[in-house]
Amino acid sequence: MIHNFNAGPSILPRQVFEQASEAVIDFNETGLSILEIGHRTPLFKPVLAEARALVKELMQLDDDHEVLFLHGGATTQFFQVPMNLLNEEETAAYLDCGVWGSKPIKEAPLFGKVKVVASSKDKDYSYIPKNFDIPSNAVYFHYTSNNTIEGTQMHDIPSTGVPLVADMSSDILSRAMDFNRFDLIYAGAQKNIGAAGVTMVVVNRNILGRVKRQLPSMMDYRKHIEAESMLNTPPVFSIYVCMLTLRWLKEQGGVAAIEKINHRKAALLYETLDRLPVFRTKVDKSDRSKMNVVFVIDNPDLEKAFTELCNNEGMVGVKGHRSVGGFRVSLYNALPLSSVQALAELMQHFATKHG
Ligand SMILES: *Cc1c(COP(=O)(O)O)cnc(C)c1O
Repeated sequence: MIHNFNAGPSILPRQVFEQASEAVIDFNETGLSILEIGHRTPLFKPVLAEARALVKELMQLDDDHEVLFLHGGATTQFFQVPMNLLNEEETAAYLDCGVWGSKPIKEAPLFGKVKVVASSKDKDYSYIPKNFDIPSNAVYFHYTSNNTIEGTQMHDIPSTGVPLVADMSSDILSRAMDFNRFDLIYAGAQKNIGAAGVTMVVVNRNILGRVKRQLPSMMDYRKHIEAESMLNTPPVFSIYVCMLTLRWLKEQGGVAAIEKINHRKAALLYETLDRLPVFRTKVDKSDRSKMNVVFVIDNPDLEKAFTELCNNEGMVGVKGHRSVGGFRVSLYNALPLSSVQALAELMQHFATKHG
């Protein structure tokens, strides 16, 4: 029995793996593989249309918000966002709250001025900065809603007074929120909604068309909107896997229903960590992530012993990010509660033996 706690690419629902593998051999009983059909054919177009419609439905988006499936990963969005939204003489505000959150701050100055409104780098990004001021002339405010590496999460949508942009790569569709409050949301699919190779972008069409610079077509959100997310050959198979995962999420009862399960998974794991002194979390309690749980074992011999125990017991992907060390357990939507229960039991067993 394998329990997959990988941080990304990560676990997807079993039925998605089965349906996706079936489609590689025989897509919708056509005798053709999903990998050998034209993207503009009546076979594939409904897949893209359904994926976009499911995102709109699950996120309860209004008509101003467009859904795109693009190439280049979330990392491309680090520069595509300022390229589309920020003029050279203008300022964009950024929150520096994690390793991932620090990366777009390095890209945006290629296009305009950047104001870092707050940073938690002083304490290794172990908390989310609060009570920061956003300049009222900022053309947008950018933040990372969940810090995948450090295990912190912004639990409320910040009130900003300026257009809101968020990197939701590692907690997209994991909890109910008013997604219409955002002007732009992006997420690499490989954490919570599908296979690597595609990035979901939700954009309010009203914030586009302000920048003076010429944009290469592939970088221009408006061109992608016009082409209904088919400006060139889209990542067909990755989009198909997203569509299947979104269908699965809808079957589970949607975002509010999965949020309840995600809450139970995180509560069980944190409760176990807090109860057992051999494990320690460095993250501020109020900012704990429900998607990525990061912890350490201070004694190096015990750290090694726990790593081996996890390996022997089929607990995959519990090693912390190389920049942080320790352990990281990812609890994305598709991870069943039973896997967290198995891990919690293992931790209890370990603590009893070494306590
Ligand atoms: C994984 C991750 C990224 C990077 O995504 P790519 O698709 O590999 O570019 C960016 N931001 C966050 C929050 C992530 O977790």
